[in-house]
Amino acid sequence: MANPPRKIVHVDMDAFYASVEQRDDPKLRGRPVVVAWKGARSVVCAASYEARRFGIRSAMPALRAERLCPSAIFVPPDFTRYKAVSKQVREIFARHTDLIEPLSLDEAYLDVTVTKTGLPSATHTAEAIRRAIREELHLTASAGVAPNKFLAKIASDFRKPDGHYVVRPEQVDAFLAKLPAAKLPGVGKVTSQKLESMGVTTVEELRGIELPVLEARFGRWGRRLYELARGIDESPVRTERPATQLSAEDTFEQDLLLDELTPFIELLAEKVWARLLREEGRFARTVVLKLKTADFRVLTRSLTTPTGPRSLADLVAIAKELTHRVDQPKGTRYRLVGVGVAGLEDVGPFTQLELFDDR
Ligand SMILES: [Mg+2]
Repeated sequence: MANPPRKIVHVDMDAFYASVEQRDDPKLRGRPVVVAWKGARSVVCAASYEARRFGIRSAMPALRAERLCPSAIFVPPDFTRYKAVSKQVREIFARHTDLIEPLSLDEAYLDVTVTKTGLPSATHTAEAIRRAIREELHLTASAGVAPNKFLAKIASDFRKPDGHYVVRPEQVDAFLAKLPAAKLPGVGKVTSQKLESMGVTTVEELRGIELPVLEARFGRWGRRLYELARGIDESPVRTERPATQLSAEDTFEQDLLLDELTPFIELLAEKVWARLLREEGRFARTVVLKLKTADFRVLTRSLTTPTGPRSLADLVAIAKELTHRVDQPKGTRYRLVGVGVAGLEDVGPFTQLELFDDR
């Protein structure tokens, strides 16, 4: 059986950098604002909607923007501030789902097929997100809701600024048919021209071309074109790679002997175990012991077992065992000890119970 349709939201902040500047400086509100560094080679990072009315666009040379609108206010970009706001936006997303794929500071895909809030539809979720951004951050965002990423991204552009557009699974065909083929992701100038030479300007016309013809003309990319024209895009929302290791370490005030390390190892193991438990549903096969000698040599010893440590006591026992494999001369002193787990993996719900059933 085919998977049930996914619900993907693409959220795109409206004129993000310029909007942050206007929000934070009332003098800029309602004025044409261009975010760009000064200088002959500088390009526009963002333009407020007032500036766009003069034809100013992102990535345009700043000098050209100045010519188009001499009264525009130029503001140098402040990425530290934009990043901080971007983080706040992501925190709003995270109330609804953990499946977040940021594309840049001002755009992200969200998989809301299953949400934390239990809102009745992806449309409600998108609306709740936009409302929170407006009320809490005093900024606006646009959203596209669709069964996959590329359609959601095209849709978010449809009611910009401060709007949203929904493409339901049964609307995909009609939605795509009337679009220019150039709207499909990856179709730039070159592909557009090739398609035009084949008599194709709309997605509907693209659908009229057989797969072998597209493959002959575009190689591997031909199949992707064929699928995009039919609204097929299975690419998942990719979250940032989760950590594959966790560790904690301690540097001593005075260098210690190997058999004086035990209390520190226990303490560090406890910290690591607590963090591992927070990585719900994940376990680690490998335990790592790290030592730094008084003369700054770093030694690591590790043990990998099929199940890894199953409890804190296990973790402590393995870490202590590893101290017996530290083959340094008696009397060697250490300035640091670390305990870690590595090779973190996801486990299924069954194994998870077995592993974390609080023993
Ligand atoms: Mg944007």
